[in-house]
Amino acid sequence: MGNLTDLFKQDIRFKEALKACMNCGICTAICPAAEFFPYDPRQICDIVQRDDEEAIEKLLRSDTIWYCGQCMSCKTRCPRGNVPGEVINVLRKISQELGYNNESVEGRKQKEIMQGVGANILKIGYCVHPDTVDPKLHPEQGPIWAWYVEHIKEVAPRFGANYNGDGPGALRKIRQETLDEIRKIFEVTGGMDLREKVMEDKL
Ligand code: SF4
Ligand code: SF4
Repeated sequence: MGNLTDLFKQDIRFKEALKACMNCGICTAICPAAEFFPYDPRQICDIVQRDDEEAIEKLLRSDTIWYCGQCMSCKTRCPRGNVPGEVINVLRKISQELGYNNESVEGRKQKEIMQGVGANILKIGYCVHPDTVDPKLHPEQGPIWAWYVEHIKEVAPRFGANYNGDGPGALRKIRQETLDEIRKIFEVTGGMDLREKVMEDKL
């Protein structure tokens, strides 16, 4: 058993996510990423299950593992109870730990993603929130988004949201003690160390 396979099997998520893949391809048939990118979760599970070190290393250095949208549709459909999306999570973590993500276009984007949504989670408790998607910086969101952000205080209550308010509801302000808890989870699970490592990588 080689080093990469060892790393895989040390990750607690791996045991849960891949028991015995029978290569049926249902995950690929349901996967939205497979429709738009050169991406095949069945093939990834097959490579990992075969302990093929060379093919695993190639995956870790490739764009492929970054195409998954983490929708977890595969989890609901796999007849063997596997979760290819979670297998991808383990691959992504190892790729970043070894710095292999810096060898692919999609992998290099992780630094920006951590500067954006990663920082948002720690700061406000949301990956994406209307306050963080400035229409001037995101013209691709279109004119309706710009109008929505401008009128959010009037519009949010109309769809039941509690925009930056105390108490429950969508778009509510996340309490400081909850933010502290999120930070703690990042710290004890190694997420903060991994984040720092990726942010420090020179591209
Ligand atoms: S659906 Fe499950 S068993 Fe079928 S190929 Fe995907 S992971 Fe393997
Ligand atoms: S979690 Fe990833 S692999 Fe699974 S269906 Fe969604 S995009 Fe595809």
